[in-house]
Parts: sequence; C-alpha cells; structure tokens
Amino acid sequence: MATDQQQFDILVIGAGPGGYVAAIRAAQLGARVGIVEKQYIGGTCLNVGCIPSKALLHIAQVYAQFAELGKMGIQVTQPPAFDMPTAVTYKDKVVKQLTGGVAQLLKANGVAIFEGAADVRAPNLVSVQLKDGTTRELRADKLILANGSVPIRPPFPGLDGRNVIFSDDAMNMPKVPESLICIGGGIIAVELACMFNALGTKVTIVEMLPAIIANEDEEVSKALARSFTKRGIEIFTNTRVEAIADAGQAKRVTASAADGQKTFDGEYVLVAVGRQANPAGLDGLARAGLKMERGRVVANEQMETSLAGVYAIGDLVGRTWLAHVAMTEGEVAAENATGHDARMDYTVVPRPIFTFPEVASVGLSEAQARARGGEIHAEKFPWVANGKALASSETEGFTKVILGAYGEILGAAIFGPDATNLITEFSLAMRAELTADEVVATIHPHPTYSEALREATLAAEGHPIHIFMRQATAQR
Ligand code: FAD
Ligand code: NAD
Repeated sequence: MATDQQQFDILVIGAGPGGYVAAIRAAQLGARVGIVEKQYIGGTCLNVGCIPSKALLHIAQVYAQFAELGKMGIQVTQPPAFDMPTAVTYKDKVVKQLTGGVAQLLKANGVAIFEGAADVRAPNLVSVQLKDGTTRELRADKLILANGSVPIRPPFPGLDGRNVIFSDDAMNMPKVPESLICIGGGIIAVELACMFNALGTKVTIVEMLPAIIANEDEEVSKALARSFTKRGIEIFTNTRVEAIADAGQAKRVTASAADGQKTFDGEYVLVAVGRQANPAGLDGLARAGLKMERGRVVANEQMETSLAGVYAIGDLVGRTWLAHVAMTEGEVAAENATGHDARMDYTVVPRPIFTFPEVASVGLSEAQARARGGEIHAEKFPWVANGKALASSETEGFTKVILGAYGEILGAAIFGPDATNLITEFSLAMRAELTADEVVATIHPHPTYSEALREATLAAEGHPIHIFMRQATAQR
C-alpha cells in the first residue's frame, strides 16, 4: 500500500456544488487547493439531483404539450410515443457534459483532484482511500467540508423491498411506472409527481402535514394542489405513512389519518421525506471537538466551524438544502479561508420548484409577514391578464407581492411560467433594498412575463393597470 504525502493550503472534501465552487474560488484567490471526491464530481446536484431531474422534467413537459398542439393548428397525426431508456440516455448525456465541464474547470484552475473517500484524521490531516486501492495522506492548513447529504430513511418497515425507490432511483427508471405512491409532499415529491404524471403514471401523494409544499405561501401551495388534482394526481394530506408492504404484485402503503387507517396500492413507492447531512469520514474531527447539532455540522456566518481553520458548507450544514446556497457558502468559505472577510446573509434566498407551472418564492410568505405584525399589503396579479402568457397558453397561476408600510418588498411568490427565472428580479430588488416604487418605475419590456411582476407590485400598491381593482388608489 503506497503512502504519499502532499501539502495544500486548502483541502476541500466533496465536489458537489458547494465543494467545487469553494475549490475554484480558493484557487482564484491564489491558494494551493486539493479536492477529494469519493463518488462523482458535481455531487448530488449534478448527478442525481438538480440537473438530471430537470432534464427529465423538460422531457416530460415537452411530451405533455403534444396534447395542446391541436388548438394551435399543429396537427400531430400519430400519438407521440415515449421511450424511457432513450430519455435516460438524454439525461445521462446532459449530466456527463456538465460534470466533465466542472472537472475541466477544476483542472484549469490548478485544483488537484483526488478520486477517493476522505477520512479526516485531524484538522490538517486527511487520509484518502483512492479508487485504485492505494492510500494517500494529504496535509492542509485549512479544510472546507462539503460532504453533502443523503435521503432520510424513515423509521417504518418496508423500505428495502422491491419497487421502493428514492429520488436517486427515479433518475434511472427502466420504464414509466403504471402507478406510483409518493410518501411525502415536499419539493422532491411534487417535482417527481409532476414528471411521472405527465408521462402517464397514476400518481398519489401522501403527506402528513396539512398541505403539500407546506413551507410555501398558502395560496401557492393550494394552487399547485388544485392544478395537480385537475391532472389526476391524488393528494392525501394530514396522512402519515407508517408502513410499506407487498400486496400480491403491488406495493401497499399504510398510513394513519384523523378518520382512521388508510391503504394505498401502487406499482412503485417513492420515499421522499427529506434529506440529512452526511458526516461520513469526519469521525476524526468529531473526536477533535467538531460541534454538531441534529446531525449537521454547525458553522457561523463566515462558514467556520467550532474548529479554527475548518469550514463547512452546503447540505452538511443543512440551513436550506439548496444548491445555489451551497455555492454561495462555498465562495464565502473560500474567501475567509484565504484571509478575506466574507459573510453569509440568508435573508434573500430564492426558492425554486420545477413543477409545471413552476413555483418560486423569496422572502416572507403572506402568513409569515402578517405574523410579524404591522401594515402589510399583499396582492396577486393573474397570468391570464398578461399578454405574453395568453399568447403562449400559460395562463394558470399568479404573481403575489407582499409589501410593508413603506413599500418595502417583504416577499414575493410566483406560480406560473418561468417563475424560477423571474424570481431573480424580486431577489435583486430585495437584496438592493429597492422599494415597490422603484420596481414600478423600471420600464419592463412588452410583451413579456416580466410585466406581471411589475403589475403585481402595482396591485400591492393599490393601482394595477391591467386588472380592475374596485378600490384602486391614486397612490398608496
Ligand atoms: P452534495 O451535492 O451532496 O455533494 C457532496 C459530495 O461529497 C458528494 O459528491 C459525495 O460523494 C462527496 N463526499 C461525501 N463524503 C465524502 C468523503 N468522506 N470523501 C470524499 N467525498 C465525499 N437544489 C436546488 O437548489 N435546485 C434544484 O433544482 C434541486 N433539485 C434537487 C433534486 C433532487 C432529486 C435532489 C435529491 C436534490 C435537489 N436539490 C436541488 C438539492 C441539491 O442537490 C443540494 O442542496 C446540493 O447538492 C448540496 O450541495 P453540496 O455540495 O452541499 O452536497
Ligand atoms: P422536504 O422536507 O421538502 O419534504 C418532505 C416531506 O415529507 C415533508 O412535507 C414531510 O412532512 C413529509 N413526510 C415526512 N414523513 C412522512 C410520513 N411518514 N408520511 C407522510 N409524509 C411524511 O424534503 P424532500 O422533498 O425530500 O427534499 C429534500 C430537500 O432537497 C429539500 O429540502 C429541498 O431543499 C431539496 N430540493 C430542492 C429542489 C429545488 O430547489 N427545486 C428540488 C428537490 C429537492
């Protein structure tokens, strides 16, 4: 067994969106950087999360749109046929191109890549079990931990049975399931429910809370549930799953609700009840006093842990479980580890959900804003009143803006076309502390979806142009 020692200024553990961004930023700032990755460059997000799920959702949306083409004069003379293995190959190509690009970027920035599992022995000593079977000892002045997360395995029986899948498996299905029971109605479940429903699967969502995507604005959550129900997705809320078992050829999910026990039968069961931090390989640091809470590594706003010179970012810290936050935390950690002073600010974090229509929000929901007290103005502008949306047959949903007493933007939520891109306007406005007046004074191009954001802001101010408001004000 060959043992070789190498010295780095900064060693990053894990090459997901948190880790690879931290490594590139640290290298840009002049540090000698190494990164250790045990499974795949790009982590969960690029390999089994954000990117593959969006490739498959894109395919499912295109497939579903065929049903709408006739009314626009496009006659599809044969019904479209869907082939799952080809779709998975398309998804694999997307993933390969992106992860290959990230590997090239790391190399171009001079980052040394070690493919193997890191065992962090001490704050400046890491032993790597390389994929070729050899072991490498690496020394570093600073560490950035970016080990990411794994799915939560809920404590009920039946998880290991046939046709019980987690989100990773959903990216590589051999065929379209005839029916699927989703345990959990959170973000992963609604995105995958939307995808499989569009491909022809009979989908049932079983959620223990009173609503699906329960962290979102109540009106948005209800609108998505209505939209899903119209498409034939069955939703059971206030229903807690307690077991999965076989029932002949089918799977049976047993759950408890206020009106007693319920059972749901389907061909497949998707378990999507949240994710948990993955502290694999960090035992040495735990012994050295690394502070952890509820299974997550604790980091301050500079992303430094309880051990000086050891930083932690992304899902391992588990503040938001979002890739774009992991990336920003990566930049902050890299800057602090190279002697600069950067701090994380979590007040403006956009939350995208890639269903169709999409959901995106930032800041407070209306209920959260009202709970804080004070004067609140919250109004919605419907997509049906937006010319571009009408022309594009994208009239479902609305944009909601929540303003405070002085026109400050407290939050915004969009349910509709391109919501996940559009939310950036409100994110930027909130970050720059712009008021509603400044959003309204900005000329938005016509005809675009972006006009709906201005109109929703006008509506919250009390004087929208493109919807009638009985008590419209000259100015609020
Ligand atoms: P990860 O991406 O999990 O990367 C951690 C890496 O560390 C892994 O590659 C792992 O192999 C490696 N590692 C762990 N331990 C060791 C060790 N000891 N030695 C070496 N390597 C190690 N977020 C969004 O913002 N938008 C989305 O659209 C979105 N979609 C998602 C869809 C799905 C199905 C899932 C599951 C998640 C999705 N997420 C999305 C969440 C997003 O994937 C995560 O928030 C993000 O990947 C976290 O990045 P990270 O770098 O902290 O960890
Ligand atoms: P989640 O926390 O969003 O949802 C899990 C849901 O499962 C919750 O609503 C919970 O009440 C429910 N649940 C738990 N136990 C249950 C039981 N026994 N019976 C019925 N319901 C039960 O978690 P997730 O959907 O697994 O996603 C994990 C994380 O991944 C998310 O927090 C999200 O940030 C991230 N993610 C983000 C995106 C995106 O940004 N578009 C996409 C996918 C995943």
